[in-house]
Amino acid sequence: LTGKFKEALPLLETLTTAGYEAYFVGGSVRDVILNRPIADVDIATSAYPEEVKKLFSHTIDTGIQHGTVTVMMEKEGYEITTFRTESTYQDYRRPDEVTFVRSLKEDLKRRDFTMNAIAMDQFGILHDPYQGQAAIVAQIIEAVGIADERFSEDALRMMRALRFVSQLGFTLELATKNAIKNNRALLEHIAVERCYVEMTKLLLGSNVQQGLALITDTNIYQHLPGLAEAATSLEKLQTINWPSERQPQLVWTLFCSEVAPLEAKRFLKKWKASNEMMTAVSHALTYYQTVPVWSSLTLYDAGEATITLVEQLKRAHNIATDTTEVLEQYHQLPIQNRHQLAVSGHDLMLWLEKAPGAWIATLIRKIEVAVVEGLLANEASAIREWVENEN
Ligand code: ATP
Ligand code: MG
Repeated sequence: LTGKFKEALPLLETLTTAGYEAYFVGGSVRDVILNRPIADVDIATSAYPEEVKKLFSHTIDTGIQHGTVTVMMEKEGYEITTFRTESTYQDYRRPDEVTFVRSLKEDLKRRDFTMNAIAMDQFGILHDPYQGQAAIVAQIIEAVGIADERFSEDALRMMRALRFVSQLGFTLELATKNAIKNNRALLEHIAVERCYVEMTKLLLGSNVQQGLALITDTNIYQHLPGLAEAATSLEKLQTINWPSERQPQLVWTLFCSEVAPLEAKRFLKKWKASNEMMTAVSHALTYYQTVPVWSSLTLYDAGEATITLVEQLKRAHNIATDTTEVLEQYHQLPIQNRHQLAVSGHDLMLWLEKAPGAWIATLIRKIEVAVVEGLLANEASAIREWVENEN
């Protein structure tokens, strides 16, 4: 055991010394087998939440009703979850109630895919009753048990399946893929926020083309916000030049550039994206569509973040551009934002002996444009002279 597992080892030891079973489970075990970087280690135990809390001095009830206690150790939080089954599924979503059990095998059985249903004990030995390792070796994503049942229990698993395809480059096992086709309409019962999280991960995945192909192959797009009519643009999206370095604002900008180029804001609202996301994407698309060549003023108005997004968007759509040069041009502007102007509205009122009013914003903008375009030096005396002449 190395890295994060080693750091968390004392937790497993405390639990097992007290007579309970305890294992690393979920994504971290999958990722270590795959030789991928590990995010967070999750721990599953036969101890009930109250029993876990008795063993550790600093715990937080993060999800106690689902059996999860966060244990703090060396300023790190570790999620320890009691073995459980999820018996009562309502509305095709995660159940509100869980039943705690003492058996690891029962706990692994309720997990979504065989590759995510492997446990690792404190000695590094794998417990793998559903042949998850074989699936990992074969690079296959298959539901634990009967796929049809698993997706109708919790429809979000279908989105998780596609995002894992994109992240890992694995193939969907046939029954699992067919079950997605059959159960796809159930996705409409899932909170949009949770679909958004999975969709973002799908778009960030290094095999995004495969993930997108499945969105159309399985017809799942028919039940995703704003995408019911988007089959053609989703197919086109597979053919763009996806950059290797990506972050959420960029991938949603790329996504919207095909599926909702003229109404990105409305589209992202359906996905309950943040205001920050909606603004960033719609600004980038507006400049991309209306500004074929940058000028001093459009660079200034766009600002660095938007310029960067637009440049990345151009490259993804195979439009030749020299981003380094564009950014250099931006940084060489006399000012990069309004706060850098050598005058304020207050100065203007004093110089012109006028009462405050809408005229200030108009005049500031005129000064700003003149400075950015190099027609006026950004110095108080020069600006004063210019203002007095103009007025
Ligand atoms: P990531 O690396 O993105 O965190 P992960 O597999 O760890 O991937 P998590 O959402 O962190 O995904 O969930 C941890 C584990 O919990 C999963 O590996 C899986 O065993 C189980 N799990 C998560 N969501 C579900 C679900 N909707 N249905 C069944 N099991 C799930
Ligand atoms: Mg995880």
